[in-house]
Amino acid sequence: MTTTRRDLLTSALTAAGAAVTPRLADAEPEHQAVPSDPALRTRALESVLVARGLVDRAALDALIDAYEHQIGPRNGARVVARAWVDAGYKRRLLSNATAAIAELGIGGEEGEQMVVVENTPRVHNLIVCTLCSCYPWPVLGLPPIWYKSSAYRARSVIDPRGLLKELGLELAPEVDVRVWDSTAEVRYLVLPERPAGTAKMSEAELAALVTRDAMVGIAHVTLSPSAGARA
Ligand code: FE
Repeated sequence: MTTTRRDLLTSALTAAGAAVTPRLADAEPEHQAVPSDPALRTRALESVLVARGLVDRAALDALIDAYEHQIGPRNGARVVARAWVDAGYKRRLLSNATAAIAELGIGGEEGEQMVVVENTPRVHNLIVCTLCSCYPWPVLGLPPIWYKSSAYRARSVIDPRGLLKELGLELAPEVDVRVWDSTAEVRYLVLPERPAGTAKMSEAELAALVTRDAMVGIAHVTLSPSAGARA
């Protein structure tokens, strides 16, 4: 992983943000023109800590990357893969997600009350927090910057199908799109569809295919998960 967090601060607002920003620009340009106050304050604080030699920028980037891309989403991928191979587990997961996720030893802060929603050929689920950035940390780690952007939060409700298309996921007209608004109380996770051609794969091999984006609902799971991965 060569992308740094500084790249993310600039490119995430151009990548995911930019994809969704133009059409929002007319509605609320002031929210997208500059990074938010907390982002600026974080940068300022980081600059001072680095200048005084109290933190190492590369170590900080490595830490953030680990939680954002590796540790968290790998937990969610284990849950998804188990549900794909074990019908009983899938039933428990869809009826009481918090308990079923805990069966795999996963749980904790920001994931105390989980709900898992299942994608099917006729239903596609999308997760957002319209109010701020509520996100299921135990199964997905830290929320990516685009998830917290006002563009994503607004467009996912106003025009989810259009938003998904801009993010590279074009859904057939007959697919029903359902948007789930995470809160401080309830956090959602998408159970993506198992891709075709995976019948002989082991649970671990299946887990390796499952991406964070698919579990948020902005992508499908494919046989080449690195293609189209979003920072
Ligand atoms: Fe929130």
